[in-house]
Formats: sequence, structure tokens, C-alpha cells
Amino acid sequence: MTPLATLLARRIEAAGPMTLADYMAECLMHPRHGYYATRDPFGAQGDFTTAPEISQMFGELIGLCLAQCWLDQGAPASVTLAELGPGRGTLMADILRATRGVPGFHEAAQVVLVETSAALRSVQRRTLGTRPVEWLDSAEDLPDRFTLLVANEFFDALPIRQFVRDGSGWRERMVGLQDGALAFGLGPETALAALAHRLEDTRQGEIVEFCPAAGPVMAAVAARIAAQGGAALVVDYGGWHSRGDTLQALQAHRFADPLACPGEADLTAHVDFEALAAAALPCGTACTTQGDLLLALGIEQRARRLAQSLSGEALASHEAATRRLTDAAEMGTLFKALAVFPPQGPAPAGFAG
Ligand code: SAH
Repeated sequence: MTPLATLLARRIEAAGPMTLADYMAECLMHPRHGYYATRDPFGAQGDFTTAPEISQMFGELIGLCLAQCWLDQGAPASVTLAELGPGRGTLMADILRATRGVPGFHEAAQVVLVETSAALRSVQRRTLGTRPVEWLDSAEDLPDRFTLLVANEFFDALPIRQFVRDGSGWRERMVGLQDGALAFGLGPETALAALAHRLEDTRQGEIVEFCPAAGPVMAAVAARIAAQGGAALVVDYGGWHSRGDTLQALQAHRFADPLACPGEADLTAHVDFEALAAAALPCGTACTTQGDLLLALGIEQRARRLAQSLSGEALASHEAATRRLTDAAEMGTLFKALAVFPPQGPAPAGFAG
């Protein structure tokens, strides 16, 4: 058993089974044993790779898209340039490099990173060098200013609850103990207002997921954009109107049993973009796939340009990275992009039409 498994087993013995959301929160963010609290999990040595770690083009195109939103909305003099869950800080570094040539943008932009992991905050500090950066614990603390925000693979790390349809109600999937080991079980039947609409499209025994933290985070971001202007781009894996069990554990680039190694595997779930878009009201929203967004923003032209100075293995890996980001068989379709923009529009570049 991992040290965290022992702690959780004791807690369950004393207080009874815990919700999956509590379990995920402990696994990811426990101050001593949590997955993000204790390590830098990205890249070939780590457990998974994300789009900004695959290629600089991802951050460059996102950065130019955000800078275009700033220009389209009158280039205000004071801007929050924010990221939720910045990982190593690579995406923000690429955004800043790509937008250096946009006159006035860097003078206006104040970089704000929402990050709970102290270990990753120090990696971000190193990545971003001497640029002034403010760290926040929560999106709810974002300043009430014109806001340009990006969140890549942030919402998938937020803890989810799972409910199994039982008659005209639900039973929550709980983490308890069986023969001393962590095991899934079902709680008593409950009615849940947040799931009332799912009674219409689920059958007996089907699982639906609900991410309690996602709505308030999205609403906090959307409130700033509705009042002060700006835009948010959320990129993540998931779908529209999700159903079924999507909890997954990844360790050393392989799928693992989510209960086997608490604190030592990454735990994520598909993002329900329908719920995110609903939480972003009254802002406008538009949704597309990662592949279509990057193609619309000009990844092919950018890839050709970068390829001119590459050869041999470096060229092959650059071409593979381009395919990985855009191909339907790789990240292109599974990953979605949601834009949130002021109620009067327009949608950011790459989302319109
Ligand atoms: N965006 C990065 C990293 C994604 S991993 C990339 O694309 O490479 C998820 C990130 O979200 C990590 O930085 C993790 O520490 C952070 N995180 C997870 N839950 C969080 C929470 N509740 N509040 C703030 N940051 C969180």
C-alpha cells in the first residue's frame, strides 16, 4: 500500500466510505502525498504529456488567438493574462514569446497563474524567468479586469462525483474498504438537483458524472469577461453531454487501476463541456475540436515554417508532433476547445463559422 492508501484506509475505518471527489482530491492534492503536490509529472520521464509539452506551436497559436481578442476589443491598457493549472509553465512561456511582436500587449498584460501545487509553482517560476507573475490559489480570486485566460488539461484534474442510476434516483459511487483494501461501493439512494435533467437520458445502472468544482470556476471566469471583456479558451479531453464512467488513472504513460496507487498515479475524468458552457452564461460560448481549432489558427503554415530549419530526427519528431496535436486518431478529435467571450461577441478567431 502507498502511504496515502494507508491514511485513507484509516480514515474510512473511522468515518465510513468517502465520495470519489474526496478520494480524487486527496490523491491529487494531499499536501504530503498528493500526486501534484509532490512531483513534476510531465514529459517523457513523467506519467503523461500535454499539448504544450508536445510542441511550441500549441502555445504560440493560442497566444496569438488571445492577443487578437485583445485587439478586437479595443486593446485595453490593463489586462489579466491568466492560466488555470499551468503545469510546467510551458504554455504561458510560449504565449508570451509568440505575442512579443504585438505592440503594447506585453505592457498591458499582467500574468496571473492559478496553481495549488507548491512544487509546480517553483517549476513555473523557473520557466518564466524574471517576468513578474502573480500566483493565486483559486480562479475566484482573479482580479476584476479585462481577462484573457487559458486552461489546458485543468478541468480534467478537478475531482468528480459519480452516480449510478437506480429507479427514479441515484446512488453515489463511494470509495470504501473490502478485506482491508480500497474498493468501490454504492451509497444510499439520493435525489440530486444537479442531476435532475439526467433522469431523461439515462437508464437503470448507467453512470453519470458531476464535477462540483468546475461550474464555480467557470462562472468566476465568465463573470469577469461579461463585466470587463476578454476571452477564455478551455482545451481538454471530453465531450458534450457526457455519460458513463470516464475516471482514469495514468502511471508512466500506462493506464492503471484508479484505486491501486493513490497519490502515485494521475487521476482524471472527461470534461463535460456542456456543463462548462452552461456555467459560462451570460457569456457567449463556442465549441470546436482541438484539431479544427489549430488548423483554423494556421498550424500547417507554422509547422512548415519551423520545418525549414529542421532536418533528420528533429524534423521527423516535429512532423509527428503536428500530427499528434491535430489528427483525429490522436488528440485532434478527443480534445475539445471551448471559447468564452463577451455576450455581444464575436467569437475568437478559429471558432467563428
Ligand atoms: N496546463 C498544463 C498542466 C496540466 S496538469 C499543461 O497543459 O501541461 C493540471 C494542472 O492543474 C497542474 O498544474 C496542477 O497542479 C493544477 N491543478 C490541479 N487541480 C488544481 C486546482 N484545484 N486548483 C489549481 N490548480 C490545480
